[in-house]
Amino acid sequence: MSVQAEFDAWAEAGKDRGMEERHWHTAKEALARMPVEAGETVLDLGTGSGYALRALRETRDVGRSVGVDASTEMVRNAREYTDDAALEFLAGDFQHLPLGDGSVDHVWSMEAFYYARDPEAVLREIRRVLRPGGTVYCAVNFFEESEHTHVWQEKVGVEMQLWDRERYREAFRSAGLHVVAQDTIPDREIDIPPASAFPTEGWERREAMVDRYRTWGTLLTVGVAP
Ligand code: SAH
Repeated sequence: MSVQAEFDAWAEAGKDRGMEERHWHTAKEALARMPVEAGETVLDLGTGSGYALRALRETRDVGRSVGVDASTEMVRNAREYTDDAALEFLAGDFQHLPLGDGSVDHVWSMEAFYYARDPEAVLREIRRVLRPGGTVYCAVNFFEESEHTHVWQEKVGVEMQLWDRERYREAFRSAGLHVVAQDTIPDREIDIPPASAFPTEGWERREAMVDRYRTWGTLLTVGVAP
């Protein structure tokens, strides 16, 4: 299935809001680390409901905020959730960004990067649109070390790139970005039931759920354009 068809269906089923709620547990920590200044331009790749840009506008007074998403239904929803004219949501592939060289101060992406057919090309695009000293904050929950996320591939009709931490750093460097930080942000908010409650609908064993959320959570790789 195409990325657009898959995520149009998700958006129509209201899953954009569900992801917003779950991803927020760790996304808010990663967003709080971004060195954004008032008035700066921020780009959100695979924006979904657009919550990250709404939050950055509300809390950090960023300027032009552009969310790109392959799903026209996601874009439609994201536009509906705000009446802030500084927020732009564009349908398109993040491998070909409709933005000029050096025109962006910061790039954000949560749980979207690994859907890219050519992730290296996306990183080169990010490098192209960032101004010198601009940053990219790439957050993913699906990665090699978090082994209990690997089954997601069976549930999603789009090929997903299962990279490990080192691979992210290597790919950033190959695209000409300095890797200035990388770590994992545990999800401490999700409720993990007592051992006696397992198996649950989603989890066979409590240990697996603990590993997924508390041990690994979200992998954040931070790059800076030279
Ligand atoms: N960032 C949001 C949405 C995550 S879901 C959140 O944290 O909740 C992943 C999103 O990435 C989907 O909306 C999907 O349409 C988008 N996406 C996947 N591959 C893409 C691509 N190549 N170009 C643009 N958007 C893409």
